[in-house]
Amino acid sequence: MTRAIQIRQHGGPEELELTDVPVSEPAAGQVRIRHRAIGLNFIDVYHRTGLYPLPMPATIGMEGAGVIEAVGEGVTHLQVGDRAAYASMPPGSYCEARVMPAMNVCKLPDAISFETGAAMMLKGLTAQYLLKKTLPVEGLQPGDHVLFHAAAGGVGLIACQWARVLGLQLIATAGSDEKCQLALANGAAHAINYRTEDFAARVKDITGGRGVKVVYDSVGKDTWDQSLDCLRPFGLMASFGNASGPVPPFAPGALGAKGSLYVTRQTLFSHISSRQATQAMADDLFAVVASGQVKIHMAQRYALADVQQAHRDLEARKTTGSTILTLP
Ligand code: NDP
Repeated sequence: MTRAIQIRQHGGPEELELTDVPVSEPAAGQVRIRHRAIGLNFIDVYHRTGLYPLPMPATIGMEGAGVIEAVGEGVTHLQVGDRAAYASMPPGSYCEARVMPAMNVCKLPDAISFETGAAMMLKGLTAQYLLKKTLPVEGLQPGDHVLFHAAAGGVGLIACQWARVLGLQLIATAGSDEKCQLALANGAAHAINYRTEDFAARVKDITGGRGVKVVYDSVGKDTWDQSLDCLRPFGLMASFGNASGPVPPFAPGALGAKGSLYVTRQTLFSHISSRQATQAMADDLFAVVASGQVKIHMAQRYALADVQQAHRDLEARKTTGSTILTLP
């Protein structure tokens, strides 16, 4: 048996219950990992509320780091005793130990701690594919302007730093002046408090009226319309989340009227659908973190048993950077 957080039905943070669940031996293609730290992500909120429905009962959580305890048949890239970290489907990381598919589990370099590993896999691989694989028709060159919403959050602070490494002029938005300062301190070229300022007007000012090549939008409903106004002709709207609610249906004609825009809805799990792709992206992430070019901000820590409070704070926009759940 292992301690785990389960939900019996979709709902509020009060549905997150600490309980004992059985943990088995890994089947072919699986490993058993004993967590040292667990990552908290906004997608966990979607799984809890049912925006992304799950079969019940469910243990949520998509990110963690720990030690490999058992290895199923056919798994060759991991051995018992390896330090490892992952961002993986299906959900189930809010626990002390779990059996899971090995495909997305990567050996964690010695230079990277368990806590950092747990805080960065889902968020860092997301920043990686957004900045390097989700590109406008002309590609991205150093000096290009991009707009990144919620830039002081978990994915956001990694993206700010990685964009600076790539030479991009990242325009950050965030929900308070303090969060804007944090984004600037982490490599954003400009920052806009989108709760007090008209961010589309500011983006036009900053870019001399041209607009940005890409908008990275994980806020969804509240930022969608204005974000389209921030793009230059043939610009790319990269939607990847719904922190304020899902984007309502829209008329494609609007994309023509605003300059032949492109729209994509991205998800990490299309990018890490093979072992090879997962490892290549993880190696890229490990390199920028181990070299110190990208620092992982673990701004909040909660005991696994206090996960209800962690969800309340995340949804109330009280957190910055990454949040981890700790184990006794
Ligand atoms: P964050 O730490 O960024 O937290 C979410 C942030 O969204 C908040 O801090 C807040 O920042 C902002 N926000 C804006 N409006 C709201 C609202 N109404 N309610 C709550 N928050 C709001 O979370 P993560 O780093 O875990 O994830 C960032 C986003 O990226 C999420 O939307 C997530 O779903 C998405 N994501 C998508 C992936 C994909 O592959 N598609 C993978 C990973 C993450 P502020 O106060 O500054 O506005």
